[in-house]
Amino acid sequence: MRTQVGVIGAGPAGLVLSHLLHLQGIESIIIERRSREYVEKRVRAGVLEQATVDLLCETGVGGRLMREGLSHHGIELRFEGEAHRIPLSDLTGGRAIWIYGQQEVIKDLVTARLAAGAEIHYEVSDASVERLDTERPVIGCTLDGKRVNIECDFIAGCDGFHGICRHAIPAGVLTTYDRDYPFGWVGILAAVAPSTDELIYAFTERGFALHSLRTPELSRLYVQCDHDDRIEDWPDDRIWDELHQRLKKSDGWTLKEGPILEKGITGMRSFVAEPMQYGRMFLAGDAAHIVPPTGAKGLNLAVRDVWHLAQALVRWYRARDDAALAGYSSACLRRVWRAQDFSYWMTSMLHRFPGDDSRVSYKLQLARLAYVVTSRAAATSLAENYVGFPIED
Ligand SMILES: Cc1cc2nc3c(=O)[nH]c(=O)nc-3n(C[C@H](O)[C@H](O)[C@H](O)COP(=O)(O)OP(=O)(O)OC[C@H]3O[C@@H](n4cnc5c(N)ncnc54)[C@H](O)[C@@H]3O)c2cc1C
Repeated sequence: MRTQVGVIGAGPAGLVLSHLLHLQGIESIIIERRSREYVEKRVRAGVLEQATVDLLCETGVGGRLMREGLSHHGIELRFEGEAHRIPLSDLTGGRAIWIYGQQEVIKDLVTARLAAGAEIHYEVSDASVERLDTERPVIGCTLDGKRVNIECDFIAGCDGFHGICRHAIPAGVLTTYDRDYPFGWVGILAAVAPSTDELIYAFTERGFALHSLRTPELSRLYVQCDHDDRIEDWPDDRIWDELHQRLKKSDGWTLKEGPILEKGITGMRSFVAEPMQYGRMFLAGDAAHIVPPTGAKGLNLAVRDVWHLAQALVRWYRARDDAALAGYSSACLRRVWRAQDFSYWMTSMLHRFPGDDSRVSYKLQLARLAYVVTSRAAATSLAENYVGFPIED
C-alpha cells in the first residue's frame, strides 16, 4: 500500500488531520487499533475551545455541533459554599466555550471522512513504524489477518499517550517532562438533567468536584479521589454523597441525582515529549503531551497540533518548502507549555494535595480563589486561557 501521509490513530488528532489534508488535496490512510464502535462511544472530553469550534465549522464538519452543542459564556467557581461566576465572554471580547462530547466530534469526522471516500482501517494490530529517517517511511500492521506495509511520504503519530510512535523514536532523541499528580478523578455520566446551566468547579476541604454536562438530559460529574483508588472503591452512593458534600451551596441549591450510565477513574498527569518530530514522523496530540483535565485542554491541543501539521505539509507538497515542517515542533510546543501551565495552575488551585497536613495550603488556595473572583485582571487571565487562543496565534 502507498499513501502520502500515513496516520496512526483515529482519535481527534488523526481524524482532523486527515480531514484537513483531504481539503487540500493530500491523501492519507488512517489505521486504528480499536473498532469504530468503540472509538465512537469512548466518553472523554466535552469542552471545546472557540478556536476548535471555529475550525470544525469552517471546514464543514460543524453542522451538528452548531445544532446540538451548547455554547457557554461563563463558568462558576464554588468555594466555602458560595458561587462566583467568571463571565468568560465578557472578559474575552465575546469568545465562548462549547459543550459537545468528544465522541460526537469523532462521529462527525468519521462520517465526513467516509463520505469523501477515505481509507480508515479499524481493528488493525501490531502496528510498527520503520525507516523514519528516510524519504519513504513505512507503517507495518496486520489488517484482516494479513501483514501489510504502507509506504508513506510522512507518518503522523496520532496514537495517543499509550501508542507506539513515540516509543519508536531512538533513545536519546526525545527529552520528556513528566509529573504524576498524587490524586485522580472519579468521573460519571448520569441520566439526569444538569443541576446547573454552566460548569461548576468546586473546591472544598474534602477535595475537588466538577459539575459538567453533555446535553440537557445528561450530566457529567467528577470528584477528586486518591491516586491508587480503584472504581470498586467508589460505589454509586459514595460518589453521590461526595458530590453533594463538595458541591453544597449555602442558599439551598440541590444536586439532582439520576442513574449512572458510565463511571471510571482518570489519572492526572502533565507530560511533554520534545521535539514532536523524528525524521519524517510527526507526533500530534496525546502522543506527544498530556495535561491534567482540569483545564479542558487535551483535545483542543490535539486539534491545534494537527492544524499546524496540515499547514506545514501543504507547504511542502505545494513548493517542496520544508521550513514549516522544521518549525512544527516549536510552533506546537509554545502553546503546549502555555496549556501545561494553565492546567497545572487550575489543578493546584482546586485540589487538596494528600500528605499536606498543614492548613496553610488550604488557606492559600482559598486566597488565590478569592483573588481570581474579585480581581478583573486575575479573572481575565483565567478566562482567556480557558476559552483558548486563536489557532494561528
Ligand atoms: C476524563 C477526561 C476528560 C477530558 N476532558 C477534556 C476536555 O473537556 N477538553 C479537552 O480538550 N480535552 C479533554 N480531555 C483530553 C482528551 O480526551 C484527549 O486529549 C484527546 O482524546 C486527545 O486526542 P488524540 O487524538 O491525541 O488521542 P486519542 O484520543 O487517545 O486517540 C488516539 C487513537 O490512537 C489509537 N491507537 C493507539 N495505539 C495505536 C496503535 N498501536 N495502532 C493504531 N491505533 C492506535 C487509539 O485507539 C485512539 O483511538 C479529557 C480526557 C479525559 C480522560
